[in-house]
Amino acid sequence: MAKVQIGQIIAEVTRKEYITDHFIRVYLYSPDVQQFKHTTIGDNNKIAVPPQGLNEIHFPTLDENHQWIHPDKSIAPTVRTYTHRGIDLGKNLIFIDFVDHGDGGPASKWVRDAEVGSKLGVMMRAEPKELYPEADWYFLVGDGTAIPVLSAILETLPATAKGVCIIEVHGKEDEQILETKADIEFRWVHNAEPQVKSELAEVVKTIEIPKTSKFGYVACEFSSVKEIRSYLRKEKGWTSQELYAYSYWKAGVAENESQADRQKEKEIIE
Ligand SMILES: Cc1cc2nc3c(=O)[nH]c(=O)nc-3n(C[C@H](O)[C@H](O)[C@H](O)COP(=O)(O)OP(=O)(O)OC[C@H]3O[C@@H](n4cnc5c(N)ncnc54)[C@H](O)[C@@H]3O)c2cc1C
Repeated sequence: MAKVQIGQIIAEVTRKEYITDHFIRVYLYSPDVQQFKHTTIGDNNKIAVPPQGLNEIHFPTLDENHQWIHPDKSIAPTVRTYTHRGIDLGKNLIFIDFVDHGDGGPASKWVRDAEVGSKLGVMMRAEPKELYPEADWYFLVGDGTAIPVLSAILETLPATAKGVCIIEVHGKEDEQILETKADIEFRWVHNAEPQVKSELAEVVKTIEIPKTSKFGYVACEFSSVKEIRSYLRKEKGWTSQELYAYSYWKAGVAENESQADRQKEKEIIE
């Protein structure tokens, strides 16, 4: 299999905006952004968040024997997964949208504190990737963490596509207008405590699924993804080609500690 080309940059915040009360966009500048000119909007990335109080990014480096040299713990960044939300090649900018879930996680804390000049490391595929296959009907389900990828899908769907998009956000103040040419019915679910409970799976079960070709993209908290996957695959008979479902986070567990569980859950009904 051909090796995937990965780009790696250190970028600086030039602007930060609250798109809604709990959703923050940062614009990140670096001349090296050009590495990502072919990257698909909506593809995931890895961000390297510096330790609090340090505005420097120290990536691991490869020595002449091809061994990884890791920076000392005191300066090593915390790595988290986010989504490539947009690029402005003329201005050497990329954008990333963060759910503000408080000060409890390094990435959320970083974005809350970020100001012009704050540095972030970004690593991602430097080549295109197909986000979704062609279908007549799309079922797009997620919480705030999935708004970036669902927005990217919605923006590229053709006018002939139909579907339903269900998104869970903190409250009415966090609903957004998501651009699409497709004929999509939007349902917003409000939940101020996504780390405690979620009604996403219940809402999913109320949707009538047409008998046309279909594709589902589901990205939210672990328990909801598990229930929705089980419902669509086992009760509704969807094939693995018709559904991409992946937990974007797990309540009560930091991303690096939940990765194995989230991956395993995905593989159980593959
Ligand atoms: C492929 C992929 C793409 C993603 N894209 C995005 C994106 O574009 N934007 C985005 O905001 N997130 C995105 N996420 C989710 C993000 O990686 C997690 O929310 C991550 O845990 C945030 O890191 P942190 O350092 O803030 O918190 P962590 O240190 O990982 O977690 C600390 C605590 O916060 C809780 N927590 C984590 N996320 C949330 C949340 N959203 N709401 C409430 N509690 C939470 C954890 O359960 C834990 O208890 C994506 C995840 C994946 C796998």
